[in-house]
Amino acid sequence: MSAPSNNPLLQTSPFAKDAGQWIGRDPRDVPSEDWSNSSFLVGLAAIRAKCLDCAFNTKEIRKCVQTDCPLWPLRMGCVPKGYRKAAITAKTMHDASAGTSLSEEVEAEQNPSDEAENDVERAQ
Ligand code: SF4
Repeated sequence: MSAPSNNPLLQTSPFAKDAGQWIGRDPRDVPSEDWSNSSFLVGLAAIRAKCLDCAFNTKEIRKCVQTDCPLWPLRMGCVPKGYRKAAITAKTMHDASAGTSLSEEVEAEQNPSDEAENDVERAQ
């Protein structure tokens, strides 16, 4: 199965276990010409757009009860007053104990310390 020609953000999986299915490309490897049909939202605007996609309208975003959703604190399109301070306090408390937080896992995923890890995964 070849990658769809009308969506340059997809590719045929290089992972053997995917048996040739289409997967999303690694956005870090996408050249500028392949972004032409993108919305170009980043940060809080992208979060707000995702919440609109999930909740369908701004009133429902405001009422969202999924407080365990990672986007929930930022769903109104801004960083709430006191949020950064609370996050710093939580990180300080976490650093004093062992374990891996969700934010650390996300950071590790976004910034793989070893590109060879990706190469190993591709070979599987
Ligand atoms: S915060 Fe609420 S509306 Fe936004 S993505 Fe999460 S569940 Fe959906």
